Amino acid sequence: MNAAIYPGSFDPITNGHVDIATRAAELFDHVIVAVYDRPLKNLLFSTDERMAMAREALRAVPNVTVESYNGLTANFARSAGARVIVRGLRVLSDFELEFQMALTNRKLAPDIETVCLITRQENTFLSSSVCKEIALVGGCVAQMVPPHVAAALSEKFSHLGADGGGRVQIVSLRE
Ligand code: ADP
Repeated sequence: MNAAIYPGSFDPITNGHVDIATRAAELFDHVIVAVYDRPLKNLLFSTDERMAMAREALRAVPNVTVESYNGLTANFARSAGARVIVRGLRVLSDFELEFQMALTNRKLAPDIETVCLITRQENTFLSSSVCKEIALVGGCVAQMVPPHVAAALSEKFSHLGADGGGRVQIVSLRE
């Protein structure tokens, strides 16, 4: 079976992620959305919350499953029986990072290939951080995330208060 993993933080999953996972599912027999348990980032949602939101968002795509992982992405790919790591590319700044990660992963695991899918034009400036920043100040994210994710964002911020409990980095919209 031709399987791939699509790793990331998915904090939370956005329409951009859903699009990449759905398109990857047309190219591979099985795609595992691999939710990284502890990225070097401030997280708003727990691993379980991120997985549940991703599962719901991709419920209609039968050959996509969602799992969490720790440690090296290449090791997770191997243990899941996948030979491909799928990543998404939006702007040029993504390329630099993805290029570095792909070369590092090739060094660590020459048997695993990285495949980057180019975003759709309408998702070019869409990221989890932008969605969190907009939701934090009460803006509408309905065009950016599935409805259950929009609801989870407003629920989370109603509990955390106006500063997001310090868990949202206010950088993305000014970058
Ligand atoms: P990470 O912390 O690994 O960057 P993310 O959840 O932010 O995790 O993103 C996972 C992958 O999805 C990355 O390859 C990222 O470039 C890609 N991605 C994020 N948003 C979009 C989008 N709007 N369109 C296409 N790809 C995207």
